[in-house]
Amino acid sequence: MIIIARTALPGPELDGIREFVERHGLRTHVSHGTDRTVIGCVGDARAIDPHAVRALPGVEEVIPVRKPYRLASREFVAGRTVIPLGDRRGTLIGGPQLVVAAGPCSVEGRAMLLETATAVRASGARMLRGGAFKPRTSPWVFQGLGVEALELLAEARAATGLPVVTEVMDPRQVELVAAHADVLQIGARNMQNYALLAEVGRVRRPVLLKRGLSATVSELLLAAEHVMAQGNRDVILCERGIRTFETATRNTLDVGAVAVLKLETHLPVIVDPSHAAGRADLVAPLAFAAVAAGADGLIVEVHPRPSEARSDGDQSLTPAVFDDLMRALAPFAAAAGRTLDDEAPREPRARVA
Ligand code: PEP
Ligand code: MN
Repeated sequence: MIIIARTALPGPELDGIREFVERHGLRTHVSHGTDRTVIGCVGDARAIDPHAVRALPGVEEVIPVRKPYRLASREFVAGRTVIPLGDRRGTLIGGPQLVVAAGPCSVEGRAMLLETATAVRASGARMLRGGAFKPRTSPWVFQGLGVEALELLAEARAATGLPVVTEVMDPRQVELVAAHADVLQIGARNMQNYALLAEVGRVRRPVLLKRGLSATVSELLLAAEHVMAQGNRDVILCERGIRTFETATRNTLDVGAVAVLKLETHLPVIVDPSHAAGRADLVAPLAFAAVAAGADGLIVEVHPRPSEARSDGDQSLTPAVFDDLMRALAPFAAAAGRTLDDEAPREPRARVA
């Protein structure tokens, strides 16, 4: 159930509404917008008579929730969730700026990571990606450098100021990864690993949640709900291509899902054109399509020498090609009402989650 109350509701009236709802065993989540106050209620709403709620002072409307997801639902809060990445420049994801994360699929060593981080920062990336623990289809190939890679990522952050996103695969490693990374990535293969989702829901780090290979939009939002239900409301959704009958691309980029998500949820949505394409020469057009569909950001694989990469070399851009991509993105970003420019004034929007 969602309660719409008037703006600038006096404290005692808001408390009265919350107490009434909580007395019936539901939890409340309040968000203040410019034209309304939204009180989201989580729990079994059958216990409450909506007419009684409607009669409380300050209440304007009572709306039943028909969607299976609540905390992630756009109806549930008054605005959009804008998530600070924790860097000194104050980068926000979900606001007017198009945020690009870039870096290697896997952290393969110190020199290659620092070289990539420095290059992508110079081209305008706002976050560094790099896998430390890799979910590989085969157990006989490179599985990532693990803890050593986490330390290298922290070093690259110190050298460039870029916040770091890296994947966590195991609930037992959440604390360790959170100690090194700014954003915790849940990979496509783990989107429905509910123990892992609950564990990242308990830490204070934004979560980058990738869509499962054959997950529906609703399942993705319910996975986000698992994280949010534990208290962590900072979830960034990522469309990275899904399995279809098509083999010309590694996965099929579901551009439609980006547009649907922007309507269904207040959470930021980013796109990974690299894993969708599977080949470097398709990354740019897919990135343009993502921006046009409303994506709040991109995550792109970049390697200094893609032919030597220990994972996903075929889809990795060289730093020079990444630089071209960033330049070519500018008009698409502008057409979508976004800024890519480092120094452009950004309206600091209120955080709602
Ligand atoms: C990755 O980001 O390198 C990765 C493994 O992505 P996904 O989980 O989307 O396959
Ligand atoms: Mn990869």
